[in-house]
Amino acid sequence: MTLATLSDVLQPALRGNYAVGGLVTLGWEDMRAFTMAAESLGAPVILQAGPSCRAHTPLPVLGAMFRHLAESVSVPVVAHLDHGYTYEDCQQALDAGFTSLMFDGSRRPLAQNIDETVRIAEMAHGAGISCEGEIGFVGYSGGEGSAGTDPDEAARFARETGVDAMAISVGNVHLQQEREGGLDEARIRAIEAVTDVPLVIHGGSGVPLAQRRALATGSKVCKFNIGTELRMAFGAALRAAVNADQARFDRVQILQDTHESLFTAACQVISAFGAPDLRR
Ligand SMILES: [Zn+2]
Repeated sequence: MTLATLSDVLQPALRGNYAVGGLVTLGWEDMRAFTMAAESLGAPVILQAGPSCRAHTPLPVLGAMFRHLAESVSVPVVAHLDHGYTYEDCQQALDAGFTSLMFDGSRRPLAQNIDETVRIAEMAHGAGISCEGEIGFVGYSGGEGSAGTDPDEAARFARETGVDAMAISVGNVHLQQEREGGLDEARIRAIEAVTDVPLVIHGGSGVPLAQRRALATGSKVCKFNIGTELRMAFGAALRAAVNADQARFDRVQILQDTHESLFTAACQVISAFGAPDLRR
C-alpha cells in the first residue's frame, strides 16, 4: 500500500530538488500505464481526476481505481482531485478515498478565493489529506486568457489558506499542443522568494522539456500537471490500433495496443522531473 498525500510527495521533492508529475487521467488504460511508468522509474506519481474525467466516470469509481493502483506498486501514488470547483466536489472526492483535493477558486475575487480555499484546506487536513489551491488564473489555449500571479497575493494566499501546494500563473496555459510558450522565470523567482509552499504549474504540456527539468531541479516548482501531451500520445496510439486491422472490433484488444505508447510517453514525462530512484 503506497497511497500517499500530496504533502507526502511534494515536501521531499522540495527538499530534494525535483518535481512530481500530476498526470491527467481519463480512464483505466492511462492511469494504469502512468502508474507502471512511475514504478519502473522508482518515482512518485500523482494521478489526477479532472472535470472531464469526472464527467465520464463517477468519482467513487475513480477513487477506487486510484487506490487499487496504489496498492499494486511500491512507489508513492497520490489520488488527486484536479479542479474541484465547489465544496461539494471536494467533499465527494474525500468520501471517495482521494488523498489530495485541488480547489480552484481562481475565478473568484482574492478574498473569496482565500475564504473558500480555507474551508477546503481545513476539511482536507481534518481528514489527514492534502489541499492544493490556485492564485492568479491559468487560462486556456483558444479560450479564457490568463491573469498572472502577483507575488504579494501569492504570499498572502499561502499564509492565510494553509494549502500544501499552490498553483500559479506564470505564462503557463492549459491545453497547449505545442511546447513553445516557456514560463516567466522572473515571476517564479519573485513568488518563491516570499513563500515556502511547493509551487504547481498547470498546463505543463506547453512548457519545453528543458525548462521543466531546470525548474524541477532548481526552483520551488514541485509539481507539473501534464495532460494534453499524454492525451495526444493516447489518441495517436488508439488511431493506429484501430486502423491497423479493419476487422477487429473488440475494445480490449484495441486498447491493449495503446499501452506501450502510453507507458513510454509517461516515462519520458516523469524522467524529466529529476526524481531520484526511490528503490535505490
Ligand atoms: Zn489546471
